[in-house]
Amino acid sequence: MAFSHIYVEKRALGYPLTQKILSTFPGSKVIEIHHYKDVFNRKHQDFKVQAASRKLVLAVNDGQRIFETAPVCQDFDAERTFYSENAMNCIFDCEYCFLKGMYPGANLVVFVNLRDFEKDVDELLREGPVHINTSYETDIPAINGFTGLSDFWTDLAAKREDLTIELRTKSAPSSFAVSERIIYAFSLSPEEITERFEHGTAPLKVRLEAIKRAMQQGAAVRLCFDPVIYVSDYRECYGRFMDQVISSIDLSKVRDVSIGTFRISKDYLKQLRRNSEGSCVLYPFENREGYCVYPDEVREKMISLVKDSLLEVMDGGKIYEY
Ligand code: SF4
Repeated sequence: MAFSHIYVEKRALGYPLTQKILSTFPGSKVIEIHHYKDVFNRKHQDFKVQAASRKLVLAVNDGQRIFETAPVCQDFDAERTFYSENAMNCIFDCEYCFLKGMYPGANLVVFVNLRDFEKDVDELLREGPVHINTSYETDIPAINGFTGLSDFWTDLAAKREDLTIELRTKSAPSSFAVSERIIYAFSLSPEEITERFEHGTAPLKVRLEAIKRAMQQGAAVRLCFDPVIYVSDYRECYGRFMDQVISSIDLSKVRDVSIGTFRISKDYLKQLRRNSEGSCVLYPFENREGYCVYPDEVREKMISLVKDSLLEVMDGGKIYEY
């Protein structure tokens, strides 16, 4: 991983994380800027061109940093669920990623004022236990190598007994924090889907190896069969995939599992289609209360295919459907 250019807000220069990241990339050209939005929100950006050579932006998040999740989001029965905005965009390039429909460009923003995130978490904890998704607008484990953000969140959770965090990823970390409240959520797709649509992510076999490592180390593992993507031969494709997962992983030992078919806000789909070449975003979706989804008949068949395979080897109470 390398960045030809790193844009740094002047006010972000004094933060330890800024200095750590700049020292990790001594060959990058550093450009001081006033505000990250001057770069990130510029008009007429070309997402596809930028994705091929992402620039890094280091900034201070002085707005809202932690958000309550929308009712359509996954909560795994947690009562108070939030997501953190610690970074925007991802080093991977999934054709179906909603970030392509949401952000004006592909550059990666990392917010460096970590102590402010810590204060926000403590404020939320005053009202009771919270569950925070740390990878909502990025893939935190994938950028841990140069940001340390996974480590920041796992350290925070380790010291706060009412804080549960989810670190969702399509990468393959090698070491894991061990706690029931630190959940490594691995997104899994068939090899064919990963190769066609999830550019830059860890191949399926490598993710399965990482899951085994996490379980051997005693970490809490969540498997996310989400999004399940429609392809014309999805029965064969997902059938082979489920056999592969079941023969590789002891599913009785995973913490829980989520299953969900591809869905996206209607407002994001138009821009996503402009920014993505993937045939997976061209499906004639149905509009259901502002969300574009597969028709019920297709959706139910795809969910059943995955769920029925899982039910042969694990407790149905651990399976969450979205
Ligand atoms: S890994 Fe997740 S956040 Fe990153 S591009 Fe893929 S879908 Fe988007």
